[in-house]
Amino acid sequence: HQGQQEGQQARQMAPGVKHIIAVASGKGGVGKSTVATNLVLSLSLLGLKCGIMDADIYGPSQPRMLGITGRPQSEDGKILKPMQNYGISCMSMGFLVAEDAPMIWRGPMVQSALQQMLRDVEWGELDVLVVDMPPGTGDAQLTMAQQVPLSGAVIVSTPQDIALLDARKGLNMFRKVDVPVLGIIENMSLFVCPNCGHESHVFGHGGAKTEAERLGCDFLGEIPLNIDIRETSDSGRPITISNPDSPHSKAFAEIAGKV
Ligand code: ADP
Repeated sequence: HQGQQEGQQARQMAPGVKHIIAVASGKGGVGKSTVATNLVLSLSLLGLKCGIMDADIYGPSQPRMLGITGRPQSEDGKILKPMQNYGISCMSMGFLVAEDAPMIWRGPMVQSALQQMLRDVEWGELDVLVVDMPPGTGDAQLTMAQQVPLSGAVIVSTPQDIALLDARKGLNMFRKVDVPVLGIIENMSLFVCPNCGHESHVFGHGGAKTEAERLGCDFLGEIPLNIDIRETSDSGRPITISNPDSPHSKAFAEIAGKV
């Protein structure tokens, strides 16, 4: 019953948003933010009106990845307007604090910041709001999973065992609170040497697919380890925007189609 009440309260948080989809990983550095950015851009290219909420309070990366600087404005001093680029509405703690300032916050402060990002931001009418989750299964993740009416969650993992072990924990957390897991994405899957074309599986290969089968959820696709993906993300022009015809952008588009 409490969960239901919280769900109702949360629904008023972003009233015009049809679907909220969490992009999560059990472990940091597996490319969750990179996937979230390219996924939201691919969904937008499919004609959906999209936004991204950067819930990674301690390490926000969406401002840099989407190439957005500046501060969100407010007309009444309470409700913030999300920032915009490439047709995507975006809100991130990164707009509100200096890039090199550490967020020295305890759990309850993170929880209230996340709620405010949904309640006190004018998201407007959106088909999909993608949430770039913080890594792990702590306070912030539980807040999002329990108090926000998520339509589903996507789990990002690299192919190696340790990342998959953490991904499994993330997946089980969503299942425990009855959020549908839409599937697993394997990132940094294959590396093709740009000089000689030799293929290597730096972090292994196929682990996420096997794991998805084992856990009874969908495998959404794999994204290679590729320098263009990193460089375009770092420069604020993600590959989906800067080179929509590249095979990597097509891989993201295919995943977006399944989500
Ligand atoms: P997380 O959100 O899981 O911490 P990020 O998305 O910030 O991870 O990615 C960590 C680093 O790895 C970033 O520098 C990013 O550009 C890079 N990266 C992510 N995915 C890929 C990929 N498929 N190929 C190359 N570099 C990648």
